[in-house]
Amino acid sequence: MKFLIIGAGFAGSIVARELVEAGHQVLVLDKRNHIAGNAYDVKDEHGVLIHQYGPHIFHTNSERIFNYLSKFTEWRPYEHRVLGVVDGQAYPFPINRDTLNQLYGLDLNEEQAAEYFEKVREPKEHVKSSEDVVLNTVGRDLYEKFFLNYTKKQWGLDPSELKAGVAARIPTRTNTDDRYFTDTYQAMPLHGYTAMFENILKHPKIQVQLATDYKDWLKQDRQYDHLVCTGCIDEFYDYKFGKLPYRSLRFEHEYLADTEHYQSVGTINYPNDYEFTRITEFKHLTGQQHPATSIVREYPTTEGDPYYPIPRDENEALLKKYKALADEEQNVTFVGRLAEYRYYNMDQVVGAALNAVDKILEKK
Ligand code: FAD
Ligand code: UDP
Repeated sequence: MKFLIIGAGFAGSIVARELVEAGHQVLVLDKRNHIAGNAYDVKDEHGVLIHQYGPHIFHTNSERIFNYLSKFTEWRPYEHRVLGVVDGQAYPFPINRDTLNQLYGLDLNEEQAAEYFEKVREPKEHVKSSEDVVLNTVGRDLYEKFFLNYTKKQWGLDPSELKAGVAARIPTRTNTDDRYFTDTYQAMPLHGYTAMFENILKHPKIQVQLATDYKDWLKQDRQYDHLVCTGCIDEFYDYKFGKLPYRSLRFEHEYLADTEHYQSVGTINYPNDYEFTRITEFKHLTGQQHPATSIVREYPTTEGDPYYPIPRDENEALLKKYKALADEEQNVTFVGRLAEYRYYNMDQVVGAALNAVDKILEKK
C-alpha cells in the first residue's frame, strides 16, 4: 500500500520506518526544509551543534522505547541539571532539600525537609489546576518564587487557568538529587538528533519531500491509500470548529565567540526576570568540545509555530469535536504532539507512533 505521511518529526519518521519494514511504500512530506521536526539539531555557522527549536533532552523509563531508538543511534549519557534564579541567586530546580536550605538559610535533613513541606503546603481537596498542584506540595512562598511568574510568562495564563498536568511535570524532592529528570534512561543521540532521523528515514521505500505543505500537495489530486497526519488536527479539518490554541516561542540564538563556557549547567530558568523563560547552553547537552559556545533564550509568544498544546478544559472540549471527526476516518491516522494535541515528550511520541503503526497494520 501507498502511505502519505505528513511531518518528518518523531511521529512521522517512526511511522514511516515501521510501515516500510512491514512492506509498504511511504512518502513523507514536511513543510520545513529539514527532517527531525522540533528535535532538529544542526551546527551553527561557527560549528557549534545547536537545537534550533530549543533544548531537547531525551529521557524515558521505557526500555522498549530506548531499545527501539538504539537501532538508529548510539548514545551519550547525559543527565540534565537546571538552576532557577530567584532574587539574583541561582538555586537547584526542581526544588529539593538544598533549594530549601540555601534559600532560607536552613540545615534540614531529609525528614525535616518533608516536615517543612508538610508545614508550608496548602492542602487542596481537589487538585485540578497547576496552581493547586504547586500550592498543595510546596505552599505559597515557593510557588510565588519559582512557579507563578514562570508559568505566566510561558503560557500567558495564570497557573490557576492551566490543568494540573503542566506543573505536575515538575517533582518536589526532600533529597538532594538535582537532576531535572530521574528516568532510567537519560541520554543524547551521540551524533545528534538529525543524524538519528537520517538513519530512521534511510530506506529505499521511504521517499522524503521537504519544503512541501501537504495542503498544496493534495491540491494536485495525488494518490495514496492511507494518510498519517502528524501536523495540527485543526488545520487538517480547515479549522471548521475554530482554532485550537497553541503556545509558541521565539528562539534567540547567540554565539559567544570569546566564551568557552557561559553557565555552569545546561539550563538556567529565570522565573521572575526578563521576558525569556530560560537560557540553555548547548555544549552541556551535546558534550561538544569547542573553544566558543552557543546559547538560546526562549521568549514565549502567542503567534508563531505551534510548539505547545495548551492543557485547559475548554481546549479539550474543542479537541473532542475534531477527535470525533478523526474517529470516523477509515484511511487517516492522527499521531503526535500536534495531531493529538497532547503535551508529549519525545519518548511518549515514539510510543504513540509505534502503537499507531500496530493499529494501522491490524486493519490492513
Ligand atoms: P513535530 O516534531 O512537531 O513534527 C511535526 C512535523 O510536521 C513538523 O516537522 C512540521 O513541520 C510538520 N508539519 C506540520 N504541518 C505541516 C503541513 N501543513 N505540511 C507539511 N508538514 C507539516 N521532549 C522531550 O522529551 N525532552 C525535551 O527536552 C523536550 N524539549 C522541548 C523543548 C521545546 C522548546 C519544545 C517545543 C518541545 C520539547 N520537547 C521535548 C517535545 C518534543 O519536541 C516533541 O515531543 C516531539 O518533537 C514531537 O514530535 P512530533 O513528531 O509529534 O511533532
Ligand atoms: N515551571 C515553572 N518554573 C520553572 C520551570 C517550570 O513554573 O522554573 C512550570 C511551567 O508552568 C512550565 C511547566 O512547569 O511550563 C513544565 O516545565 P518543563 O520544564 O517541563 O517545560 P518544557 O521543558 O516542556 O517547556
